[in-house]
Amino acid sequence: MGNRVALVTGGSRGIGRVICTELAAAGYDIATCYARGAEAAMETVRMCEEKGVKAMAFAADISKAEDVTKLFEQVKENFGGIDILVNNAGITKDDLMLRMTEEAFMQVIDTNLKGAFLCCKAASKMMLRNKFGRIINISSVVGISGNAGQANYAASKAGLIGMTKSIAKEFGAKGITANIVAPGFIQTDMTAELSEDAQKYWEDRIPRKMLGKPEDVAAAVRFLASDEAGYITGQVLAVDGGMTC
Ligand code: NDP
Repeated sequence: MGNRVALVTGGSRGIGRVICTELAAAGYDIATCYARGAEAAMETVRMCEEKGVKAMAFAADISKAEDVTKLFEQVKENFGGIDILVNNAGITKDDLMLRMTEEAFMQVIDTNLKGAFLCCKAASKMMLRNKFGRIINISSVVGISGNAGQANYAASKAGLIGMTKSIAKEFGAKGITANIVAPGFIQTDMTAELSEDAQKYWEDRIPRKMLGKPEDVAAAVRFLASDEAGYITGQVLAVDGGMTC
C-alpha cells in the first residue's frame, strides 16, 4: 500500500504550512491549495518533499464551488484519492457589529464555512468508497466563546462545529471520523495584525501564560489523523493554553 493522502486547505503559510510539514513527517503524501500565495505554497511543497513524501499545491479559492470541484479532480488525478481532509483555510474581516457590512459577513462565511462544507462533501464521496477517512476542521476558540468585533468569524467557526458533529453522526458507521481543532491565540500572519498591547493582553489572560505556535495545532491534527484516534469522533479539541477551560 502507498502512503495515505492528506489534503490540507490553505497550506501556503501559517498553521496550514506546519500541518502539511508535520503530516509529511508522519509519512502522508500531501496535497494542498492556496488562494493567492503560489510561491509560498511551492515552498511548502518543497518542505514536504524534503521529508520524502509526494507533495503538490493547487490554486483554488475554496469559497467557489467550481474551484473546489477542480481541486478534487486534480487531487484524484494525481494522488488517486484522499484519506485525510484538513479544512484549515480561513480569513478574518473584523468589525464591530453595527459597522460590519453584509459583504464582510458573507465573505468570511463563504470561505470559512461554505468552503469547508464543499470540501467535506467532495472528500467524503472519496472516503466512503474506501470505508476510511479522517476529517479535521480547524475552528477557533472564538467559535466557542464569541469575540467582540468578530461576529462573522465567530459565526463561521461555530458553524463549523455544528457541521462537523453532524458529519460525525452521518459517517461514523462508514469508517469516517470528523473532529474539530479549536486553536486559541496562535502566532501567525493572522494574529500579527494585532498590536503588541493586544497580544500582551491575551498572553496575560491565557492560563499557560504564552501564545501558541502552529506546531501546537499541527500536533493535535496529526493525532486526530492517526489510526490511534479511530474511536474519537465529533469532538472539539481546544489547543488554546487553557483559554476556554
Ligand atoms: P493565515 O492568514 O496565516 O493563513 C491562511 C491560509 O488560508 C493561507 O494559506 C491562505 O492562502 C488560505 N486561504 C485564505 N482564503 C482562502 C481561500 N478562499 N481559498 C483557499 N485558501 C485560502 O492563517 P492562520 O494560519 O493563522 O490560520 C489558519 C486557520 O486557523 C484559519 O482557519 C484560522 O481561522 C484558524 N485559527 C487561527 C488562529 C490564530 O491565532 N492564528 C486561532 C484560531 C483559529 P493564500 O495565502 O494563498 O491566500
